[in-house]
Amino acid sequence: MYHSVGDCSDDPYRITVTPGRLDRQLRWLRRRGLRGVSVAELLAARTKGEGRDLVGLTFDDGYADFLTNALPVLARWQCTATLFVLPGRLGSSNVWDPLGPRKPLLTADGIRDAAEAGVEIGSHGLTHVDLTQADDTLLYAEVEESRAVLEELTGAPVTGFCYPYGTVDQRAVDTVREAGYDYACAIDPGVLNGPHVLPRLHIGQNDTAVRLFLKYRLHRLRRRPVAGLR
Ligand SMILES: [Zn+2]
Repeated sequence: MYHSVGDCSDDPYRITVTPGRLDRQLRWLRRRGLRGVSVAELLAARTKGEGRDLVGLTFDDGYADFLTNALPVLARWQCTATLFVLPGRLGSSNVWDPLGPRKPLLTADGIRDAAEAGVEIGSHGLTHVDLTQADDTLLYAEVEESRAVLEELTGAPVTGFCYPYGTVDQRAVDTVREAGYDYACAIDPGVLNGPHVLPRLHIGQNDTAVRLFLKYRLHRLRRRPVAGLR
């Protein structure tokens, strides 16, 4: 789980890695015989009993720096990724984070550029709200409308969702599943673990080779097997 790729000198939420750090992390993956792909590609392979060499890479929020700083590094290592964007905040910034620098978000054209470069576009909701605190109307809009807007924008199906802040409850899971998404990403799903509440690991600027190795090994202990996936 990544967010922004750029200067991380002022980064109170630890959501930023530098392009140089991302480069070294992807080099680490490739040297271990692993390859970063979109979550859709990862899940498609795993349901066929394949893809043990694949790792899902996700970039949340849809920062504009994805195109300039992340995409060239991904391409250098023959990796792809899933970009979870906020169609209710096109061309805006991360106003939901009170501290730290304002980071610009991709415009509609920027999202299309990422999609054309082979990046999977998923929904992060419309505006980045905690879905467990949203009333039914807002929950439905964030989950359902964001998908419709993104499919219109990209001209392609949108099959993945990502819970803002990683916060999730059964009502949010049911809404996401009923909206027709094939999968959804969380962070630490606990008992909700399943295709619509997938666990992810935060990867940050401090994650050098030794830490990556430990995270990679320990990740399987944090999750229970997901039915239908291995
Ligand atoms: Zn987010």
